[in-house]
Amino acid sequence: MSDETQELGITESKEHSPGEWYAEVVQKAGLADYAPMGGFIVTRPRGYALWEGLQNHLDGWFKQTGVQNAYFPMLIPESYLEAEKDIVEGFDPEVAWVTHGGHEELEERLAVRPTSESIITPFMSQWIRSHRDLPMRLNQWCSVIRWEATDTKPFFRTKEFLWQEGHTAHRDREGAWDETMTRLDQYERLYEDVLAIDVLTGRKPDHDKFPGADTTTSVEALMPDGKSVQGGTSHYLGTGFAEAYDVTYADEDEEEQLAHTTSWGTSWRALGALIMSHSDDQGLVLPPAIAPEQVVIVPIWQEDTREEVLEYCEGLQSDLEATGLSVNLDDRDERNPGFKFNEWELKGIPLRIEVGPNEVDDEEVTMVHRPDGENVVADRADLVSAVEDALDTVHAKLFAASEERLEEGVREAHGRADILGTIGQHGGYVKTGWCGEESCETEIKDQIAAEIVAVPMEDDEEHETPVHDTCGVCGEESVTTAYFAKSY
Ligand SMILES: [Zn+2]
Repeated sequence: MSDETQELGITESKEHSPGEWYAEVVQKAGLADYAPMGGFIVTRPRGYALWEGLQNHLDGWFKQTGVQNAYFPMLIPESYLEAEKDIVEGFDPEVAWVTHGGHEELEERLAVRPTSESIITPFMSQWIRSHRDLPMRLNQWCSVIRWEATDTKPFFRTKEFLWQEGHTAHRDREGAWDETMTRLDQYERLYEDVLAIDVLTGRKPDHDKFPGADTTTSVEALMPDGKSVQGGTSHYLGTGFAEAYDVTYADEDEEEQLAHTTSWGTSWRALGALIMSHSDDQGLVLPPAIAPEQVVIVPIWQEDTREEVLEYCEGLQSDLEATGLSVNLDDRDERNPGFKFNEWELKGIPLRIEVGPNEVDDEEVTMVHRPDGENVVADRADLVSAVEDALDTVHAKLFAASEERLEEGVREAHGRADILGTIGQHGGYVKTGWCGEESCETEIKDQIAAEIVAVPMEDDEEHETPVHDTCGVCGEESVTTAYFAKSY
């Protein structure tokens, strides 16, 4: 290995120092750098391309299901924020304020949006007049700021983060609840079909709901280090926000009715979960559906074979690009094939095609799967279908590993010692009966910082018939199953 290769490669171990390993993958794969201010990062082109990939999928699904994009100011007058008291209380410690414009002190402070209910809902109130204006579904792609004093972890913990926030209004509970579930399903689909991550879905305990919400639902992803990531949330807000911001409509009988509203969001934390789930000690591993480049072709030539190998590779590239795949032909003269293999492994390209004089003579291609290095030889004549199969296989391998991790990561436990011991030893989720009291969660939280990350939906059997008759913490009667875990 040359010095240069060592510098390029990952030196930390995912298993033994996951935090350092994660930071190294993010930087060496060219995804992000740390900004001069604590809590902020600079997203580099390869990192931003991942965000665009996520955006393309999700935005397409939103638009297919009646959502329109809009954009609201990033600064919100304090009086707007105060109209919904739960929002104010919920976000107060984390709000960044603008107090001056130039040298002038502002008459009213402006909040840098921590979320936009308080600026979007008042406008929905103006735009909604009759039942014919409903449902109204708006979404914005933007960044928000939450001033939390924690260590920076790119894409996981940053004061400013990129996200989308959807805000909708409906005639009744049923319409708003269906909306809440539609978005939750789309987040689940994003994780499973695009990011190749299996997730748990559920709702949050009442004490942990979004401020002012009726019901908060989420997708939760289990990371290899045993911690859970809240990967997207969808809130049924009831009529509380409609009441606070006066979102009413005239029904068929010209009677004034309160709308039911929802909000839902997912952030670049999904990229954090993606990086952490699949990547390894060689670097980033990406599923084909989000990889900015799905295939890299690495020619292996000598002086006398250069021309024929390169020509063959160009043919492969154009055939694959014609099907819509993104293909990088690495024809750099100044790098040897070994260096190129390492570099593209580090950067996570899902499939590598190696072409030497033998492949040219035999009219074949050698394909190497990024996740496990499996080699597959295919006929040149079958190139397109062979590559498509290989990419499907790469996705399937990544998803299967995530599925297995989740399956093994859910363990039943009952009793304080059992719950603490099980999470302490294995991480993952502990499934137990719960009485519904916050104090029982607090007890576990105080000891090992694990909390209830999900309880089953109300129509779920595990809610109706909890896994244990009694609460795993206090022993009183249980009202639902609860999933405890340490989380990001
Ligand atoms: Zn209890």
